[in-house]
Amino acid sequence: MNRPALSIVVPCYNEEACLGELHRRLSAAARGVVGNDHEIILVNDGSRDGSWRVMQALAAADPRVVAINLSRNHGHQLALTAGLDLSAGRQILIIDADLQDPPELIGEMRATMAREEADVVYAVRRRREGETLFKKLTAAAFYRFLDRVTDTPIPLDTGDFRLMSRRALDALLSLPEQARFIRGMVAWVGFRQVPFLYDRAERHAGETKYPLSKMLRFAFDAVTGFSTAPLRWASHIGIALFFLSFLLLGYIAFGWLTGSAVQGWTSTMLVTVFLGAVQMLVLGMIGEYLGRLYVESKRRPLYLVADVAGPVRGKATLGFRAEPPDDDGTAISAEA
Ligand code: UDP
Ligand code: MG
Repeated sequence: MNRPALSIVVPCYNEEACLGELHRRLSAAARGVVGNDHEIILVNDGSRDGSWRVMQALAAADPRVVAINLSRNHGHQLALTAGLDLSAGRQILIIDADLQDPPELIGEMRATMAREEADVVYAVRRRREGETLFKKLTAAAFYRFLDRVTDTPIPLDTGDFRLMSRRALDALLSLPEQARFIRGMVAWVGFRQVPFLYDRAERHAGETKYPLSKMLRFAFDAVTGFSTAPLRWASHIGIALFFLSFLLLGYIAFGWLTGSAVQGWTSTMLVTVFLGAVQMLVLGMIGEYLGRLYVESKRRPLYLVADVAGPVRGKATLGFRAEPPDDDGTAISAEA
């Protein structure tokens, strides 16, 4: 296969207002390092705004742009997976559409990769501009918590902004799971990975596409995908309660023997409520893993591609690409 030197993969959800500027800065930066030998893969993750139209226009104007339209909103990590799966470059850059990660760093990241003979150069956020205190605090706490519970050392304060070699990407694409926490999966594949410090900019336009609910889902996927520690906690809680109940038994026996046993509604309620809460918590934890197992067991494709504009060179092993509709409109027509 005729591989371009660099593939740049961008997942986009309602990013209409960012795409023009994104393309301008990305292609200027890519040209600066590899000339025309690059491809820019824009993945439309079921946007509700005019993102797909803008992407089609960009693909029509620039032969290095490949625009991919997913059949619906599959979520950030799966949109990213689709873009990676359809990329062909010898090196691959992952970047957000909102220009919080400056494209101008490509050169330095490539230099770091060459100098360190690394397979992955991951960008670590030194500062985050224009994000709420709540987001910064929860993100910082989340990465530290994750680091404690997982067996895979996942770098702190690191998003998906990174440069990868083809062999690291191929290794990543060999992991078939549905619930994808890509920054953790990249850490898991190994090879030589080095950090690259940068200051995260403000969003170019629009709002964050990660409301609290998506952040929580993401955090659950990260923890359950990389650690079974919460299941272990369940047994630890069980063991602790077991010994506690012995103490309680002694206390009850003492009360009975000395004849000082009272009605004890309060303590009974306390124990009932507490045990009930612990049981529900543990059941929930088990449920999380069971749910994951269920989703994985269905073995569905990770994403569905409805339309493509521009030359796709990658091979798409994890997803499904629908045929374009016939002229007479008999086939499923994918809405633009
Ligand atoms: N994104 C996506 N699908 C989604 C949500 C987000 O493809 O369902 C993309 C979004 O367009 C952006 C990237 O994922 O390119 C990161 O999202 P965002 O910048 O909103 O997250 P934040 O930087 O606020 O954490
Ligand atoms: Mg952002």
